[in-house]
Amino acid sequence: MVFEGLANRLQDTFNRLRGKGKLSESDVKEAMREVRLALLEADVNFKVVKEFVEKVRERAVGQEVLQSLTPAQQVIKIVNDELTQLMGGSQAKIAQAAKPPTVVMMVGLQGAGKTTTTGKLAQFLKKQGKYPLLVAGDVYRPAAIKQLQILGEQLKTPVFSMGDQVSPVDIAKAALEHARVHGFDYVLIDTAGRLHIDEALMNELKMVKDAVNPHEILLVVDAMTGQDAVQVADTFHKELEVTGAILTKLDGDTRGGAALSIRAVTGTPIKFAGMGEKLDALEPFHPDRMASRILGMGDVLTLIEKAQASVDKEKAVELEKKIRKAEFTLDDFLDQLAQVRKLGPLDQIMSMIPGMNKIKGIQGMTPDEKQIGRVEAIIRSMTPAERQNYKIIDHSRKQRIARGSGTSVQEINRLLKQFEEMQKMVKQFSGLAKKMGK
Ligand code: GDP
Repeated sequence: MVFEGLANRLQDTFNRLRGKGKLSESDVKEAMREVRLALLEADVNFKVVKEFVEKVRERAVGQEVLQSLTPAQQVIKIVNDELTQLMGGSQAKIAQAAKPPTVVMMVGLQGAGKTTTTGKLAQFLKKQGKYPLLVAGDVYRPAAIKQLQILGEQLKTPVFSMGDQVSPVDIAKAALEHARVHGFDYVLIDTAGRLHIDEALMNELKMVKDAVNPHEILLVVDAMTGQDAVQVADTFHKELEVTGAILTKLDGDTRGGAALSIRAVTGTPIKFAGMGEKLDALEPFHPDRMASRILGMGDVLTLIEKAQASVDKEKAVELEKKIRKAEFTLDDFLDQLAQVRKLGPLDQIMSMIPGMNKIKGIQGMTPDEKQIGRVEAIIRSMTPAERQNYKIIDHSRKQRIARGSGTSVQEINRLLKQFEEMQKMVKQFSGLAKKMGK
């Protein structure tokens, strides 16, 4: 999962701070040194790191932090605020023209995921009740047109194509006309990519831009390429004035530096994040939620949105309330496991639950569906009273539960220990959430 390394390091740093109670200036300094290293290791641009740490340090050595009763939480709040700012502050939404169609030009290097993302965006827009037209404007990459046509079929969305013998400028113009006549809301133009940035590519893209005057130029960049992605974004932005970036492959094992640097280096907001190869794996990019994930506070809001799509909404809302009030029981845990299984890849989902990534046992077991099945069996073998208050589970109750679930007393001990840890994290999270007025 993206940011895992960064998240672990930052959380370790803050746990050490928490352990200290009152903080001195040198404690903060030491913590900032660790934050700096963690960001550099996550491949964040060094200038960005320097400014970031300076800002946090300035705010963190302020009197109200050092003298507060919970200085560590104040420092975390500051880091959370500044991370959010770094990624652009608030969510940058896709443009919507006053008079449709909204013209969106998709640009990027070959392999970044441009064509796939164009399809994902069409799906995203359709879910919002819009009517998009896909335009096959990549006339150079073999099979790019075919690829878009296949995506169009899957999405039941029309694809406008004139083959690969017509210039991209003419295709774009004709597509726009077609969209006007047929009442499309959005025109998504897939353009040619290259392996590297070159002048011919930029000139051609500029010509397409001049011809159709897009409301939005979205640059698709591969998060796996780290600082190269930032460089690419910088060049495209200077040449074309892109209006937003879409970071792909954030589901992969990237260190996340690109996500944290692009906005600060280029001034371009990240509008979406690609989280997988499937067509529904595109998430609007929320800087505050991403910061919250990095700091191990989870992302309950995205979880609820996913839940709204595929899971019992009432249950998710109830869960959120419980997390806020720190009333989290084994029953909720069981419910959550059942719901979580419906939502998608477990490791992605787990990272959205506050504190989950910190619990060693659970971390190890996340991809292992069998293990989760055992946990479910254990909780199901408990009485309602035991689930409500696990503290009443003494040795003889454990033996009964082990028999009922076909597990062992050790396994039950392990689960209860994990659950206790999780409850602690949930409490901390809800304390912090209250403080932050979330
Ligand atoms: P293009 O040359 O920029 O049009 O790239 P494609 O759309 O053909 O994508 C290149 C490869 O990246 C394909 O195998 C895609 O399935 C894959 N890809 C695109 N977006 C994502 C993503 O968000 N996550 C993952 N894991 N793979 C992606």
